Formats: sequence, C-alpha cells, structure tokens
Amino acid sequence: MKRILFAVVIGVLFLAFLPAQGTPPRADKADPAAEMMKNLQAVSTPEAVPARAKAGFDSITAGDLMAMLAFLSHDALEGREAASRGYDTAAAYAQSLFALWGLQPGGDMPKAPAAGFFGPEPGRQPAKPERGFLQEFVMKEAVESQAAAVLETLSGTARGSRAFAPDVDFTFSSSLPLEVSAPLVFAGYGISEKQAGWDDLAGIDVKDRIVLILSDAPGRDDPASPFQKNKELKEKYLAAAPMMRRGGGADFAKAGELFKRGAAAVLIARSSLADGDIQQEIVDRRRVNDDKPILPDSRKRLLIPGAKGMPWEGRPILRVSREMADALLAVAGKTVDALQQEIAARWRPRSLALPGTSLRLSNRVRYELARSANVVGWIEGSDPALRDEAVVIGGHLDHLGRKGDYIFNGAEDNGSGACGVLAMARALALNPEKPKRSVVFCLWTGEEEGLLGSRWYVQHPLFAMEKTLAYLNLDMIAVPWDEKGLGRMTRMMNIKADELLKRIRPDRFLPLSLSAGAPDLREALTAANRSAGMDILYRETPRSLDRMSGGSDHAPFAMAGRPWAFVLSGMGENYHTPADSIEKLGGDTMERVSRLVFLAAFLLADK
Ligand SMILES: [Zn+2]
Repeated sequence: MKRILFAVVIGVLFLAFLPAQGTPPRADKADPAAEMMKNLQAVSTPEAVPARAKAGFDSITAGDLMAMLAFLSHDALEGREAASRGYDTAAAYAQSLFALWGLQPGGDMPKAPAAGFFGPEPGRQPAKPERGFLQEFVMKEAVESQAAAVLETLSGTARGSRAFAPDVDFTFSSSLPLEVSAPLVFAGYGISEKQAGWDDLAGIDVKDRIVLILSDAPGRDDPASPFQKNKELKEKYLAAAPMMRRGGGADFAKAGELFKRGAAAVLIARSSLADGDIQQEIVDRRRVNDDKPILPDSRKRLLIPGAKGMPWEGRPILRVSREMADALLAVAGKTVDALQQEIAARWRPRSLALPGTSLRLSNRVRYELARSANVVGWIEGSDPALRDEAVVIGGHLDHLGRKGDYIFNGAEDNGSGACGVLAMARALALNPEKPKRSVVFCLWTGEEEGLLGSRWYVQHPLFAMEKTLAYLNLDMIAVPWDEKGLGRMTRMMNIKADELLKRIRPDRFLPLSLSAGAPDLREALTAANRSAGMDILYRETPRSLDRMSGGSDHAPFAMAGRPWAFVLSGMGENYHTPADSIEKLGGDTMERVSRLVFLAAFLLADK
C-alpha cells in the first residue's frame, strides 16, 4: 500500500501539469516537462541571507530539529492521536517551549472563574484573565457506524427488494449519518470529455439519482480504445499506478463532477477484475504481514459538531462488487460485461436510466464527545501600522496513535513538520529584528481525522482571515528525494524529463504547491530560496481544492480564500505505518525546508 500512496502523492503533485476533466486539450500542446522547466527554481549557489533575518535563519539546525523530534516521536507519546494522552503530552511540550522562548499565547482566554458559593469577595479585584497557548474545542467521535444498501425494484406489478452487506458487497466508511433513497441510473465510465468526443453523461439525468459508474476508462487493454490513443486521456484515466486504478485519482474526480450535477450518491464498480474485485481488497487489508504489518485503519473518527464539512465530505461514494452492480442492472436485463462489450463495439458511451429500480442507502452512527486543542503562539510585528496583520505558519502535531502493540510514532508525519514550526518560532523569537507584521505559529490537532484543528482555527482565528496575509503549511519535511524517486515520478508521468533531471539535485528537490494568484507569496518564496538554495518546482493551484490537492491543513485557509503554500518534501515508504520512526530520518532536509519557510515568512511579513 505504501508504494502506491507514494505514487498517489506524486501523481497529485504532477497531475497539476496535466489538464483537469473537460478542459480542452491545449492548442500549444506545451509538454509537461517544458511547463515544469518554467516553474523550476534551481539555486546551486545560494546568496547571503538578508541581514535582518540572518540570526534566526542560522539558528535553525538539523541537530536541534532532531532533538525535538526525538521527544515528539518517542513511544511514550503513543503516536499522538488527537484527543489522547499522548497528544496532550505533545501539546504541553510545545506550549512550554513557546513560553520558554517568549512567544505570546494565542490560544483561548480562560473562562471567567465561577463565583464561589457566596459570590465574588467584596473589594477583591478578580485576576485579569490571561490568554493561554491552547485553543481547545469539543468534537464528536463516531464510535460505531452501520451502513446499509437495499435495492428496491418494480417490474410491472412485481415488487422486489434485496439487501447488500457492507464490507462484502460494497465498501463505504463515513462518520456522517446518511439516509438517501433514489432511482438508479448507469452512466458508463462517468467520463465527460466533450472535446475528446466522449461524454458518458450526455442524454441522461443524474440529478437526485444514484449513479452507477465503472472505474477507469474503456479499453484498458485494447489499443483500439480512444483512451489508449489520446495521451492525455490515457494518463488521466488509465494511469499506471495501481492506487489510481482502485477508485483513486480520476474516479474521485468523476464522482466530483457527478455531485456537481446533483447526483445523490455515486457507486463505483471495477471495470477490470484483473486484480480481483473489492472483496480481494477488503481481505487483503486484513492479511497480517509480519514484515510490514498493515493495520486496520481504525483511527478515531472525529468531527466538529455543526461545522460545515469540506467540499468532498458527506458525498456518499460507495465501491460496489461486480455481483452487486449486476444485481442493480438486472431489471434492465443488463450486466457490466454486456454493457462493456456494447461500449467497445463502437467505442461509444452506453449510459441508461434503470426504470423501476431505486436504492436506499443509510449510515447509522453512534457518537460520544471528545476534546483536543491546537497550540498557538505568536510574535508581534515591529510596525505599529502593520502589526495587526499576520502571516501564519503551521503543521499538524497529531498522528495515528497506537493500535494494539503497534505505535505509529509519526516521526516524518508530521513530527518533522511540527519540529519545523517549533524551530521557526524559536528562530523569530531570538532574531533581534522583527518583521513589520506579526507572525503566528500553530500546531494543529485532528489533521488525520479531517483537518479538524486548522478548520477550527479558521473559524476562530487569532488574527481575522482578512488580516491573514498567507498560511504556510508544513506536512512531512524530513525525507529527501532520490534519483530513484525522481526517475519513478517522471516515468510514471511518461515525461521525458532528462533535461529536468539534469537540473535537479535530488536531495535539494522540493515540489512546492501554492495558491495561484498570490504574487507576493510566490515572490517571498522565490527570494527566500535564493538564500536557502533548494531546487524548487512551484506548482500553482487554483483556489478551489479537491480531495486530492486539499489533503492537508492549508485546505481550510484556501477555502477561506487566503493565499497558501503547502510544503511536503519527499514521501518516505513508511507513510502511515508503525515504521515511520526517527531512526529512519536525518535532519538535513528538515533544516533546509525550515530555513526556507522561515525566511519566506519573514520577507512576506516584512514587505
Ligand atoms: Zn500529515
């Protein structure tokens, strides 16, 4: 699984250089490698660090970062799962460091102490409430959930119904309750690429319907398929990476498009059973493999009561078995096989309504309450006219916790980023000069459960969002790239990137995502890198994020319309496993990335 995830993240990073669903093929046909070149800033001879920020910049060292990481990734913190003792210990550690370095507390104001039984003592001034470093909030924990799917058919006067079993006939896991019942339609592969002459959604109405589609694209192994002939479509829908094949990348985007058109739910059946059907994947997930234990992803399922979900949440996407898909198509006298043959016969979509069929989906959830806290500290700007504006730097402090005897130490994810935030806070605290604007340092809880801490902060910011110049997010900054990884990336993306590889020093390589239309932020990063000396590939992303590009704490800031940058160096193969521990890591990449982000934030706040 790990390798595949690596592919996914790389996919996301580089898909940016490929067109989104439905966008017309570029007339200039500029190849992705050329696009990349334009966005590459390779700095092999760094310039001197601007004097105003030099002391802080130099104070960030690999040794200190590793020293802090040794604590945060220690077994004693039991993987720092949100709303656990391990996480609270990590938060206590961070706030004591913020206090030690003289940062100002940016957390909650203490609640007014309850007056004693006889009320406040006459003449005694109540102590002036002091803000703390913790920004605490209550969450709902889904401790149990039960999904159900029931097909109801009406053929003539004959009524029928059939119940399907979760984690046998279909997979669906959500911590949100669900009740939906709607007619069914079949929408082929769910692809709408009008410019390429293929539109499965033409002529069918998906609004308020449950839509059954097939994964990938037609003709996975047939060179006659239009999806084999068109390079861009092939890359998008028939990507090599298995994860992309298993309802990853393109299938999410298809579902997103169907939801935009008003679909009530989306069912994805595998178009090819070459790797087995969904049952295979369910059983594989349970297979114990001593070398690389794959533990059931039983992370806590937490959500913020009453909070608006992320755009991709609450949209039921089920993966269904071939048997279930055929049962849904039976009333129309069809099977998946038959429909695939009809499609391949003339390479034409073959979507159809399924009159007389409807599906009832439900998800019953039992909740309990839990609480956790972000850690927030800040340093005031030096310019009275501008210090009410702020640049925010952050990274999540939580991780996956422990599962039985296995502890997910989360050294790389995201102990490394959290240590980067701590080191930058100390750097600015000891740097004699302060930038004109204020700088806020945040360590988030609940990222692994849905970006909960950063979403809470954006709703309850220390500096109003309109006063927040930008948010700089660090998530996994310890693992450097290597030749192999870069080679794999360019091969996977079928990009002849020899030129690119010639200009990139793998261990200095950093693909950096940032919001489009934020010239000051881009300029600050570019200027900072002239001193930090990395080989940065900038990837500007439209403000509207999806599940793939929004997978970390920059997403809530993006949705609040704030400029953002997302820094993720390479991605180790121990991602989200108990093997993500400190002895596999070095401090050099953490030092380089933290110095880069420190200087960029300083220059932006000092602009
Ligand atoms: Zn992470």
